[in-house]
Amino acid sequence: MSHKSDIEIARDASKRPIQEIGAKLGIDADHLLPYGHDKAKVSQDFINSVQGNTDGKLILVTAINPTPAGEGKTTTTVGLGDGLNRIGKRAAVCIREASLGPCFGMKGGAAGGGYAQVVPMEEMNLHFTGDFHAITSAHNLLSAMIDNHIYWGNELGIDERRIVWRRVMDMNDRALRDVVVGLGGVPNGFSRQTGFDITVASEVMAILCLARDLGDLEKRLGDIIVAYTREREPIYARDIGADGAMTVLLKDAMQPNLVQTLENNPAFVHGGPFANIAHGCNSVIATTTALKLADYVVTEAGFGADLGAEKFMNIKCRKAGLAPDCVVLVATVRAMKMNGGVAKADLGAENVDAVNEGCANLGRHIGNLKQFGVPVVVAINHFVTDTDAEVQAVKDYVATQGSEAILCQHWAKGSEGTEELATRVAEIAESGVSQFAPLYRDDLSLFEKIERIATAIYRADEVLADKKIRDQLRQWEEAGFGHLPVCMAKTQYSFSTDPNLRGAPTGHSVPVREVRLSAGAGFVVVICGEIMTMPGLPRKPAALEIGLNDMGQIEGLF
Ligand code: ADP
Ligand code: MG
Repeated sequence: MSHKSDIEIARDASKRPIQEIGAKLGIDADHLLPYGHDKAKVSQDFINSVQGNTDGKLILVTAINPTPAGEGKTTTTVGLGDGLNRIGKRAAVCIREASLGPCFGMKGGAAGGGYAQVVPMEEMNLHFTGDFHAITSAHNLLSAMIDNHIYWGNELGIDERRIVWRRVMDMNDRALRDVVVGLGGVPNGFSRQTGFDITVASEVMAILCLARDLGDLEKRLGDIIVAYTREREPIYARDIGADGAMTVLLKDAMQPNLVQTLENNPAFVHGGPFANIAHGCNSVIATTTALKLADYVVTEAGFGADLGAEKFMNIKCRKAGLAPDCVVLVATVRAMKMNGGVAKADLGAENVDAVNEGCANLGRHIGNLKQFGVPVVVAINHFVTDTDAEVQAVKDYVATQGSEAILCQHWAKGSEGTEELATRVAEIAESGVSQFAPLYRDDLSLFEKIERIATAIYRADEVLADKKIRDQLRQWEEAGFGHLPVCMAKTQYSFSTDPNLRGAPTGHSVPVREVRLSAGAGFVVVICGEIMTMPGLPRKPAALEIGLNDMGQIEGLF
């Protein structure tokens, strides 16, 4: 096939007007709020009007532990959506919006790749419909109102040393991680140390992605804990009086965005929380709306299945009453080889032994997902360097794990390359074999929830936490937060907390470094290891290659 870059393929797409895409899901043009010709928001009124519809089948796409070789979850999500449409099913995909940080940094965009992409790729990776700007503004309005409250007399008695609400911007900018605000004397307020996180790490992002409707959004925004008093009493965003105005700023952003795949099938692209300190899935409102309109909804969770799928099931599905009918676990021959100890530079050469070795990682994910009662199919995302013997090795291994692996060539061929996967996924989803249940009950203690994930998913021997952390968890339980799920933040590269331990490690322990309460989002963040909430740019950021060509087209996005 062709060797065109992702952006060249996207530019050549024959897009249909967004009204035609909406019509495929039965959305009248009146209920689409167009942003240009190829993007639209779906009106809240329309969403309200379809609540009586029966839900379609929900398919989650997740992956083995990522390697620098790249796995292609988004690419496979889009490819499977197109594949389902190709075999005559009414299917929609639901993916996350892109953050500017990774686009201009290292990771690149979030629209998929090759012949399995969502378009308009450039806009989706840049300003899109302004949702992230709205989230940034809502977050920073609250920040401004906190400092302003203190400036005008601090009636609530906020302890300036115990303000936990920082500021955000959608850029990788390490210089802003730790800053001092309020310098310059009396007219500028009180100086204090604070910092910036990237917008996707904002609790407002997580809230927007978990809220069922505008009322729920406003309540959750009000529930954000922004600071504590000297007596350690929490101060909520509601106390600052910011929840109403924040909701106004987010009103339009709450409506899901509709775009299309390269094959003109509907794609919802909405929300994009971090997959470490948040849950890493597109918005609940986009997923639930898509389920009301399509017979099949294919969605993605960030990172590997130990983090992404675990949180999709234990946080998103639990909160939104969703239940996946089938899980697609993306694996690549290259990643199997890396998990089997091959260096990135040597991935081009055939190495069946290394593939077999690395399959232990895949096998553990299959076993883990089955614990949720969901059927699992492995999608082998084919790279041109993969040999037949290597692909066969993965298939043979997966068969020994009570599952099946299907070779997929959507990156090179579009939906033609996922026909077999789509057919099998549809069969499984329709069979009703899924018996989804979250991994733990609401009424376990917070520490027991952490232990449950660490032992059942990471296969660790124990969770290590000092007295301070255990006391904190107990205190939150006493304050009425004990029923919340936990949101694990650890490295995506390993089942363990050591990024270098690939494969399927055992005998490790999970040290908890810090716990944070996201009372608005509705989870307790459990930080195991170094977690960056404001990334930096690499030595040679993608921005160096990004520019406009003579024809005014964008070059260098990927
Ligand atoms: P993820 O969602 O797992 O982070 P993506 O689907 O965004 O991964 O893919 C990451 C990158 O890998 C993209 O640039 C994409 O074009 C590329 N890619 C995905 N699948 C393939 C493939 N089969 N062959 C070559 N490149 C691929
Ligand atoms: Mg992705």
